Amino acid sequence: MIKTLTLLLTILFLSAACENEKRNATTTVLEKLLKDTIAPFSHKNKIGPPGPPNRIADNSRSAPASAKPPAEATNTAPEKNDFSDVAALDPSIKLDIRYATADNFTKSKIYDCPRCLLRPEAAKALVKAHKALQKKGLGLKMFDCYRPRPYQQRLWDKVPNPDYVTPPAKGSMHSRGAAVDLTIVDEKGNELDMGTPYDFFGKEAHTDNMNLPAPVLANRRLLRETLEAVGFKGIRTEWWHFSFQGKNYPLSDYVWPCEKQK
Ligand SMILES: [Zn+2]
Repeated sequence: MIKTLTLLLTILFLSAACENEKRNATTTVLEKLLKDTIAPFSHKNKIGPPGPPNRIADNSRSAPASAKPPAEATNTAPEKNDFSDVAALDPSIKLDIRYATADNFTKSKIYDCPRCLLRPEAAKALVKAHKALQKKGLGLKMFDCYRPRPYQQRLWDKVPNPDYVTPPAKGSMHSRGAAVDLTIVDEKGNELDMGTPYDFFGKEAHTDNMNLPAPVLANRRLLRETLEAVGFKGIRTEWWHFSFQGKNYPLSDYVWPCEKQK
């Protein structure tokens, strides 16, 4: 019985193998026919002079799993359209862009000309905060907004100290177009007393320092609450700095043009 079964299985196996062979033979004939037809056209592509592999092949080979992770993606083709001009959105927001003057802690002019650009969502939020303050007879005054990475580099070249300047390689929230340095002004344009000047590096500028006169604490609270209400968040060491929390924007190298400035 077992012998018969083995015999039957062997016959079945052999006939299947024959079928495969036949199919293979048929495929070979078909392939040959096709090759003969296609050959005149594909010949050139198939036999090429030996040379370096093309770029695509190169790229696919140069990306093994062990490859170093690429540096953080940056806005390689930055465009003006990636940013909104705060002054154009609301001309009543005061600009005092200190890095476009020598009146800053580096004592030198860093920006070629002053502009307050921000990512569109951050700019809209800022205008909202300004309008809320206007109802109280107050308004915003900007010290710094988007800071192009080439300008961050200039700042770093002047003050290569991470305690005061974010290293360009790390990237500041300003270079993402999502941070602002600002204060509140009254109807006459006078700055409210925030306890220290802008870019004062010391404990007095810290937001967790409660050892300050009551009006100063009240002014700082108003600034913080107004900015937080529209999606910004402050930091511990600088009462004037707020970052927009909406999105994770890339670092940008876009530098605004100055030719129309006089
Ligand atoms: Zn800042």
